[in-house]
Amino acid sequence: MQNNKIVLLKGDGIGPEIIDAAVTVLREIEKIEDLSFELVTAPIGGEAIDQCGHPFPKETEIELEDAKAVLLGAVGGPKWDQIEPDIRPEKGLLALRKKLGVYANLRPAKCYSSLVDQSPLKPEYLQDVDLIIVRELIGGIYFGNRDTFVENGERVAFDEERYSESEIKRIAIYAFETAKKRRNKLTLVDKANVLDSSKLWRTVVKEVATDYPEVELDFLYVDNAAMQLIKSPASFDVILTNNIFGDILSDEASQVVGSIGLLPSASLGKDIGLYEPIHGSAPDIAGQNIANPIGTILSLAMLLRFSFNEEKAARKIEEAVEATLLAGYRCKDLDPNNYLGTKEMTEKIIEQLS
Ligand code: NAD
Repeated sequence: MQNNKIVLLKGDGIGPEIIDAAVTVLREIEKIEDLSFELVTAPIGGEAIDQCGHPFPKETEIELEDAKAVLLGAVGGPKWDQIEPDIRPEKGLLALRKKLGVYANLRPAKCYSSLVDQSPLKPEYLQDVDLIIVRELIGGIYFGNRDTFVENGERVAFDEERYSESEIKRIAIYAFETAKKRRNKLTLVDKANVLDSSKLWRTVVKEVATDYPEVELDFLYVDNAAMQLIKSPASFDVILTNNIFGDILSDEASQVVGSIGLLPSASLGKDIGLYEPIHGSAPDIAGQNIANPIGTILSLAMLLRFSFNEEKAARKIEEAVEATLLAGYRCKDLDPNNYLGTKEMTEKIIEQLS
């Protein structure tokens, strides 16, 4: 029998609300497409610290063993900010990504025609904006050595940005393959004018490029890339970058296309795919039924596509989201004066599905 187990990690803040929204959509698409999934919920982040004393507890690890995919809300919040660094909620998320070996984090950002007015950019900059950030997810500065100590009577801290050739090569291959299925354009974003790690990225990516003559490769320093994302976002197709630059640039890309609440992500590598919206736990709006569920619902579409090969179901969800936005429905992040709640927006998307 085919493995159809999805582990739901709701997490903290708005996590439970947006995951519940995505599950409602999943239950509907099951009926429409005659599919069936086993859903199991497990703790992660702050909720896991409260329940089990650890942000990535053993019981969650065990649930993952026979799963095919993970749908995650978000972790973290002020309640756990003062906790000792090694068991912060965010450490649980990093441990989960490492455990699953999901080195390739795909973050698409597309400008819907109906949301052109929502972007802080002028409409003429937004035509044809359809890019994807391929972010390395389990290496670099978030996983390097770090320390805080006192030296010569003052406090000192460091974080190490370290990449090996093999880590760069596997994500580069992923990015070239992605570009091949899109518009054959790849931009490596780095800081090779300063950082040794970035110089290695350029060298290795150029080597991998020889296997992909059809893909046009160019390079941007990250400071320039941050500027070009605002100045000419439509010039990008696939952006390949390291863990920290990808984290920052994807938040920037989300504003170009309207709101951080809209963007989904898929993290792939080994057998189990991890799917989550790109935003955090948004503690400032948690529990108020005002979070935008679209980033999570689109993450569900990516889950169906990449982990279960259900392209038709994935497309249906994406088209339903687009149609809902086209019909003028908005969450509070997109229209603070005239908006639907999380649940009501989800209902509108479900109406479009059927
Ligand atoms: P955030 O992404 O949670 O929120 C930034 C802003 O965007 C806030 O104003 C928030 O209200 C808004 N926002 C985010 N998602 C939204 C949505 N779906 N609908 C409407 N508005 C939305 O980032 P932050 O405030 O820097 O971090 C809050 C917590 O989340 C921190 O503890 C942080 O460590 C954690 N975090 C977790 C993840 C993750 O779980 N993947 C990612 C980033 C931050």
